[in-house]
Amino acid sequence: MKRSRNVKIVATLGPASSDYEMIRALHEAGADVFRLNMSHGAHEEIAERHAIIRQVEEDLNSTIGILADLQGPKLRVGTFANDEEELEEGASFRLDLDKTPGDATRVCLPHPEIFAALEEGTSLLVNDGKIRLKVTSFGKDFADCEVIVGGTISNRKGVNVPDVVLPLAALSEKDRKDLEFVCELGVDWLALSFVQRPEDVNEARDLAKGRAAILSKIEKPAAVKSFEDILAVSDGIMVARGDLGVELPVQNVPPIQKRLIRKSRAAAKPVIVATQMLESMIESPMPTRAEVSDVATAIYEGADAIMLSAESAAGAYPIEAVTTMNNVAVEVESDPNYQDIVSKSREAKKTTVNDAIVAAAREITETTDIKAICCYTQSGTTALLVARERPPVPILALSSQRRTARRLALTWGTKCVMTGDLDRFKMAVVNAAKAARALGYATEDDQIVVTAGVPFNTPGTTNILRVAPCDERLIYNTDPE
Ligand code: PGA
Ligand code: MN
Repeated sequence: MKRSRNVKIVATLGPASSDYEMIRALHEAGADVFRLNMSHGAHEEIAERHAIIRQVEEDLNSTIGILADLQGPKLRVGTFANDEEELEEGASFRLDLDKTPGDATRVCLPHPEIFAALEEGTSLLVNDGKIRLKVTSFGKDFADCEVIVGGTISNRKGVNVPDVVLPLAALSEKDRKDLEFVCELGVDWLALSFVQRPEDVNEARDLAKGRAAILSKIEKPAAVKSFEDILAVSDGIMVARGDLGVELPVQNVPPIQKRLIRKSRAAAKPVIVATQMLESMIESPMPTRAEVSDVATAIYEGADAIMLSAESAAGAYPIEAVTTMNNVAVEVESDPNYQDIVSKSREAKKTTVNDAIVAAAREITETTDIKAICCYTQSGTTALLVARERPPVPILALSSQRRTARRLALTWGTKCVMTGDLDRFKMAVVNAAKAARALGYATEDDQIVVTAGVPFNTPGTTNILRVAPCDERLIYNTDPE
């Protein structure tokens, strides 16, 4: 699909978006990556959606990224005899390991390791933070709490424990099964929920064995604290504002979003802004002005991707939601201020030959009339570095690796085209010119920048930068072999 924007759109699939027609329409409307949420949906359903996405990809001769989002160690209370209870402010309420259905005085929290990690005064948040409990005393199998903010508590509601680093395995038994299942299906990205430490990421990477890239969801205060270390071992980042806004005061989320985007951009790793971007569109065909402004902010911050959750998975207007994001992106990116704002938040980094080449490529496109930067990339690294520059022209990544192309679906401004393996630089330039013309980025009279590395097919060796004409006859006549 030809897109006239840099920011990418991730759409979560669910009951509202599970058949071929809808998934195809979402891709045509602008979704570049589809998210399969492993917290919902049986394996058969996940496999079905996966197969449909690959079918759409083939039918439209397109490249689509698939991101499988693992549930992670999400804590939940047990059930209640009456399905739900009202907790009054000031009352006391006990959490324990007793599986008997709960009542207005107690309920099961079936995670013994949590009780071991509590301290007096620890906050426990239930049901998206709507109910707030404070631990007054505890033992190895119970915690007595004071209800600080009351509300309705019901069966299997989620529990957040923001104050402590929980001694939980990064991946539950379910996560391990899900991980193996989706890696065998063939997904491009694995998202890890509730990452707390870099070791959590390493654990998933060991299990994925290179079959998928690893994206860390930042939704715990502990992850915000050790963000640099987590970023260093991750391939991508999600600013998971839903749980982040439960575990931290909501007003902390925007500055964290800015920081995470800046650091991820500097590290040349794709960063997604997620949750409640167009929340009202679950029920309405029109977004609120504040939501449009929120989407625009993420784009001005230079995020790689913006994400829809329930809006596309379970809402009444999935296509309208994708279209809205697309329209906002096109408008923001054509604002004369956009390029200036995005480049002011770029952190200069020139330590390697690769860094110098991509910076030079961007500088050339800023100085002269160049229509695209075409880069040859096997692992995707060079394309990520070009994207880090946030140049003012389209980035055309040429790769012989389908896997690389699909992973790059998440990366800012990057369009990936498949090529065969190359053995001569002249052919690299010819192919790049052809691809740029075929995509409508350039005509025969235009010029492009081409980067590549010799020897060919050796990762991390980008060492050539050529400003080339798009007219093949000129390339054949002028370029050395
Ligand atoms: P979730 O993650 O939708 O899987 O909870 C995103 C978030 O918490 O924002
Ligand atoms: Mn979450």
